[in-house]
Amino acid sequence: MSSTRLTGALAKLAAKLAADFGSDSVSLCPDTLRAFAADESHGLPSLPGLVFWASSTAHIERALSLCSALEIPVTPSGARTGKSGGAIPTHGGLALSLERMNRILDLSPGDMVAVCEPGVITADLIRAAQSRSLFYPPDPASLEECTLGGNVAENAGGPRAFKYGVTGDYVLGLEVVLMSGERLRTGHRSIKGVAGYDLTSLFVGSEGTLGVVSEITLKLLPLPREVATALFAFPSVAHAARAVSAILDSGFLPRTLELLDDTAIRAVNGPGVDLPPNTGAALILELDGDERQSLQNGLTRLARTCELHGLCESRIATDEGDRQRLWQARQRVARALKELKPLKFSEDIAVPRSRIEQAIERVKALGAQCDLLTATYGHAGDGNLHVNFLYDREEQIPRVERAVEGLMDIALELCGTITGEHGVGVTKKRFLPKEIGDQSLHLHRQLKKIFDPKGLLNPAKIFE
Ligand SMILES: Cc1cc2nc3c(=O)[nH]c(=O)nc-3n(C[C@H](O)[C@H](O)[C@H](O)COP(=O)(O)OP(=O)(O)OC[C@H]3O[C@@H](n4cnc5c(N)ncnc54)[C@H](O)[C@@H]3O)c2cc1C
Repeated sequence: MSSTRLTGALAKLAAKLAADFGSDSVSLCPDTLRAFAADESHGLPSLPGLVFWASSTAHIERALSLCSALEIPVTPSGARTGKSGGAIPTHGGLALSLERMNRILDLSPGDMVAVCEPGVITADLIRAAQSRSLFYPPDPASLEECTLGGNVAENAGGPRAFKYGVTGDYVLGLEVVLMSGERLRTGHRSIKGVAGYDLTSLFVGSEGTLGVVSEITLKLLPLPREVATALFAFPSVAHAARAVSAILDSGFLPRTLELLDDTAIRAVNGPGVDLPPNTGAALILELDGDERQSLQNGLTRLARTCELHGLCESRIATDEGDRQRLWQARQRVARALKELKPLKFSEDIAVPRSRIEQAIERVKALGAQCDLLTATYGHAGDGNLHVNFLYDREEQIPRVERAVEGLMDIALELCGTITGEHGVGVTKKRFLPKEIGDQSLHLHRQLKKIFDPKGLLNPAKIFE
């Protein structure tokens, strides 16, 4: 559509939505449009023409059917913490915010399910479940800000994914509004159910390109009574990677198994963290269960196992304050890297667990080849690594882009993937064909056409 026609159509849309749902449900204010132009990725910002805050499924239905008739592109928006540019309105049009749909509609200890609107903040559901002795395990590091709708759209993971799985493992059913404005229900409230194609799984991870999620039915677990946390320091990543295998071979399934490499350690080490100066890698691990003492004993046994792999120091938390202190190293890392170099490009890949050591070695070689400092940390338990390229000046970006391309090759050559949890969005779509191939890409396009024949819903995301 030409830009003049789009502007005219947007004016019509704004007037209709304001008349139907009140003037505070829409905004054309430049500051607001700017706020919706970007997320937390490196994707280029792009202004929407209009922002609309839906307060109910009926609002989403109306907005999408109007946009469909007026041929206006729509970008669903949660909290815009996405790291692959999914919520950037690349083609302008309407930014459809779900943040006002933030009610937990049902939390049932009997069925062990929660039914939520898409704008519920992830940590709010975790706390609400906890207050009923229930557990919602997915824990993206952004959990105090991101929304369940965004988590479903990205199939978000987090440190606990190693033991408990990712968002998709908890989604029993969805209510989705299609671009035509029709409402669709998928899945069930029962824990089991295999009727028909698994459309729920198709929507999970579809990055807002197939439909707008308006209600989510999630499975909950009993809350583990106790959690025990330890930090193990090693002389090198190679030692730590071998220790990861030994930990798993010893029959334990930690709920988190986080790794920091030497550069990440260098960035975070200091008062409060105080790791020995020769630390070249660290693991932060947690066991959960019912008996505090048996968890502590488990960590002591794991420390002994790790001694065979060069463990230079083990710290086992004895109370909640201690636990928080051990986590500081991991929590500080993203910000602390900026103290090493002012600029960073943060990427997310996953490799089979047995290839972690090789992956980190190759990342270091790639960094040296591109003359960039690298720092790698992440979820060692499931091979999901966050690789950071650190640099000084904007002019170095072409070099960083070359390094990112090399990183994607490393992930694929090691039988991994270009994204473990952040999604493809706009920032990684040029690499997707390399991973999935032409036949699968063709099928992706056909599926998109079935749900959104005019290509109006979150266009230019995942693939062109
Ligand atoms: C500091 C930080 C730490 C992070 N840590 C993690 C982590 O540990 N694990 C992880 O997986 N991610 C992590 N992320 C990335 C991000 O938080 C997740 O991808 C999250 O799921 C995005 O949620 P959101 O509400 O911000 O969605 P947005 O960024 O607003 O949107 C993300 C995508 O979802 C679509 N979308 C949003 N709502 C809906 C809806 N209702 N229906 C359909 N589509 C929708 C959007 O169009 C977009 O494509 C982190 C980000 C930051 C900034």
